[in-house]
Amino acid sequence: MTKFSGVPAYYPDKEAIELLLRASTTGHLVLSTFHIKTAPTTFTQFREYGIRGEAVASELKAIIAQRLVRRLCASCREPDDRPASLQTLIDHKFEVAAGGALYRASRQGCPACHHTGYRGRRMVYELLRMTPAVRQLIEADAPISRIAAAAFQGSYRRMWHHALELVAEGVTSLDEIHANVPEEV
Ligand SMILES: [Zn+2]
Repeated sequence: MTKFSGVPAYYPDKEAIELLLRASTTGHLVLSTFHIKTAPTTFTQFREYGIRGEAVASELKAIIAQRLVRRLCASCREPDDRPASLQTLIDHKFEVAAGGALYRASRQGCPACHHTGYRGRRMVYELLRMTPAVRQLIEADAPISRIAAAAFQGSYRRMWHHALELVAEGVTSLDEIHANVPEEV
């Protein structure tokens, strides 16, 4: 039977990570949070601590990386007609309807959003699954870019892509995701 352990450490150090790894080898399901840029860069952090891929590859189930982006205020959002904005979506193979669902925050806002242009937040995320190919690359301490390429195929999209979906739906703005969501590995 799998035992469950919650871990109250938000920024575990090397010793804490080693402890978590030991717990995971004894039949506990260990959940932990890390302060990282994207899911694959978890391994950059491990390597900086001198923790080799082979020590984590067999026990790790998955990594979810998430960020919050602000939602545009539906009462005062304005069409984003900047050519560069549309081009960004086209470059990422998004279809934007004629007339567009592409919006940016109103500079002066409105009473509904306390004049900020934004109301509420949405999570954007990416899920790194441990497929056999990903596991092999982690064991071999392969470059992070190769781990990322293997992990994000098919329907497994990057956090940046998820954020762009919200832009294409008019939920948030390109300005907001440029400021809060990392584009690279
Ligand atoms: Zn508003």
